[in-house]
Amino acid sequence: MSRCNGCGATIGWALGTNVAHPVEQAEVVAWLVPTAPADRITTKLALVQHDARVVVGWVVDPDTEGATRVTGHESHFAYCRAAKDFRKG
Ligand SMILES: [Zn+2]
Repeated sequence: MSRCNGCGATIGWALGTNVAHPVEQAEVVAWLVPTAPADRITTKLALVQHDARVVVGWVVDPDTEGATRVTGHESHFAYCRAAKDFRKG
């Protein structure tokens, strides 16, 4: 457990080979399709995997054709009010 230097929120980390991505602590499970369905209103969601890969898709019901079950964490950058202040490298 660690805290964001920008806003002080408790965050987790997704650790990739060359990247550490700050994420929200709560794990999210969603069924995603790669392109927005034309027949309904959906939400676009980006979930950071434990290896820091980011999976982006549109949230649908589990019985939707082509849907993939994705487990991950939302990026802390989406929530951090100090995100615009981050300067890396
Ligand atoms: Zn923050």
